[in-house]
Amino acid sequence: RSAEPLLRVEDMVVNYGRIQALHGISLNVAQGELVTLLGANGAGKTTTMRALSGLLPLARGRIVFEGNDITRMRAHERVVSGLIQAPEGRGVFPGMTVQENLDMGCHARPFDKKAEYDSTLEWVFGLFPRLAERRKQVGGTLSGGEQQMLAIGRALMARPKLLLLDEPSMGLAPMVIQQIFRIIGEINAQGTTVLLVEQNAQQALTRSDRAYILETGEVTKTGAGHALLTDSAVKSAYLGVG
Ligand code: ATP
Repeated sequence: RSAEPLLRVEDMVVNYGRIQALHGISLNVAQGELVTLLGANGAGKTTTMRALSGLLPLARGRIVFEGNDITRMRAHERVVSGLIQAPEGRGVFPGMTVQENLDMGCHARPFDKKAEYDSTLEWVFGLFPRLAERRKQVGGTLSGGEQQMLAIGRALMARPKLLLLDEPSMGLAPMVIQQIFRIIGEINAQGTTVLLVEQNAQQALTRSDRAYILETGEVTKTGAGHALLTDSAVKSAYLGVG
């Protein structure tokens, strides 16, 4: 049944106490897609990611992953099933080396064979040669961009079926942002399905198959990435033109 998307979110409502942060959002991600959830500060991007990861409960709605209802599944079980969130770059362990940080990534989903570990590590180092060069350096001494690479690399060590990326461009210089997005595109092209949450509309939409616009806890628009790039309302709100 290839019609079933990898991830299907239906009418998701999330509250912080008496404050409703998400008002019933629906979205889906098909196998192999790169989908962006685009939103300004406070739109509910991080809340969405935390709910998908199992860190916040739903007050209403459903999350279906690979055809299974995971709405009430615990966070670590979601990781085991292949729903992996890369933390923001600041989420790397500062006192651990690059190698140790990467090894933390496969804790929840251990490898059966040493050879699989080796080939996954080789894959990650191929995507991020900088991490290979710095494998013995501690995380805290890396640049912001390198820490972001390490956060993504660590998530890849868990071999995600769906990789959730929360604002990978946050706080990085334009050159570094471009580099990170190029690698995200490469990870997707090599077969990993990606759901990206971003404020950086230009880079994210350019690389995305599809995108959803999130505004104050509601999905207000959806379409192909390239179509939204030229949408006049999107341009004036997120691309600073028009
Ligand atoms: P940012 O890019 O600034 O992180 P965001 O799109 O990720 O923004 P969220 O952090 O998900 O937005 O916040 C969505 C809404 O929920 C906002 O109105 C925010 O004020 C509110 N909110 C977030 N965290 C809490 C909390 N712990 N308690 C109460 N309200 C919260």
